Amino acid sequence: MLARTFIERKRDGGRLTKDEWRALSAAYLSGEMADYQMSAFLMAAFLNGLDEAETHALTQTMLESGDTMRLAHLGLPTVDKHSTGGVGDKVSLILAPLVAACGVAVPMMSGRGLGHTGGTLDKLESIPGFRTGMSLARATAQLEQLGCVMIGQSDEIAPLDRRLYALRDATATVEAVPFIASSIMSKKLAEDLTGLVLDIKQGSGAFIPGEEQGLELARTMIALGELHDCPVVALLTAMDRPLGHACGNALEVEEAIHALRGEGPSDLMEVTYALAAEMLLLAGAEGDRAAALERLEHAISSGDAARHFQRVIEAQDGNPGVVDDPAALPQAPASAVFASSDSGVVLEVNPRAVGLGVISMGGGRTRMDSQLDPAVGFVITAKPGMAVRAGEPLATVHASDDSGLERGMQVLGNAIRVGEPADAADVLPLIGWRVTSAGAERCDS
Ligand code: URA
Repeated sequence: MLARTFIERKRDGGRLTKDEWRALSAAYLSGEMADYQMSAFLMAAFLNGLDEAETHALTQTMLESGDTMRLAHLGLPTVDKHSTGGVGDKVSLILAPLVAACGVAVPMMSGRGLGHTGGTLDKLESIPGFRTGMSLARATAQLEQLGCVMIGQSDEIAPLDRRLYALRDATATVEAVPFIASSIMSKKLAEDLTGLVLDIKQGSGAFIPGEEQGLELARTMIALGELHDCPVVALLTAMDRPLGHACGNALEVEEAIHALRGEGPSDLMEVTYALAAEMLLLAGAEGDRAAALERLEHAISSGDAARHFQRVIEAQDGNPGVVDDPAALPQAPASAVFASSDSGVVLEVNPRAVGLGVISMGGGRTRMDSQLDPAVGFVITAKPGMAVRAGEPLATVHASDDSGLERGMQVLGNAIRVGEPADAADVLPLIGWRVTSAGAERCDS
């Protein structure tokens, strides 16, 4: 009856106390509350919202549902980054080994694909053998040894979030500030961090597209960090077009490897460097942005960052050979070039359409238990504002068979619009805002 009472309360616009959130968690994790009841509860809460106290209580409940890492003995600053989710967003794959190569420990805990967005865990698992699941004890030992570990939530860390994350993905209840804030912060606060950097995506491909709501999300997570003595810095970055070129699990790992070798697309590198510099500043590893950027660029040009990624892959049972030879990643058997049918200017590369397209080709989940095809996806070189001629290649589709190719071509036909230069709309600045507990400042880079 407990579950039903809570569903009714939320359905009717009421609120739960801290103790009631705890009771809800206990009922769900013990199996007393079924998935279908939690789905109904989530939809009611999605539609009617949570107030600030409930958002704090849900975060605390998710955090307390599991264990926390204890990293003080490392004697190193520990900093992580989390994105609210995007398309082509492979920043974590580059940034974790890059920042670790600069002497800051990175206990990177990531998620799976959510809604139309890809997930870092799914991308990592496209590396043959790579294991993202491990005990906290093993993760801590790897962090001590290599300064970097890239893992998913085990049942030890915020298991309530882990269960709700998968359920929200399957029940269209992702796009709410309190859910996203509590989901991200509960697992990040369990990491015993010196500081946290957030990449809050804005634009049509973001869960929370608008600027005002993006800023609200940033402020909510910064406040949750403050309650737990974890300084948080948030950058609002553009997701009105995919980031970089590759969209699809193994294709994104390949692009991340190129980026670690200094050959990444400029937009991807700009966002990665901006977030990584914030991590070095929060860690106290550098005193100013210019010095932080110099150190990061050196970690890439010297090969240290790529070598770090190789070591992490090896430690997590993956094939480290993919760093020297990305062809060892899963390859789709069929590929075809998508060319522009008109001359003009690229007006739009719609990230949501691209993300959903990857899922429809088998690269993401349509159900909680879907098996993924790691090799499928797109490499899209077209960017809004680019002048193109009819017949010019804009992208490549990678698919498992001819029907997948056909679907992929259709997806791109809808996602990429070419038209008259006069119809070109402004794109969002790549990095729009920087938000800290002291306030928000525009960056407009
Ligand atoms: N990332 C998370 O971890 N949770 C969300 O709800 C959205 C993005």
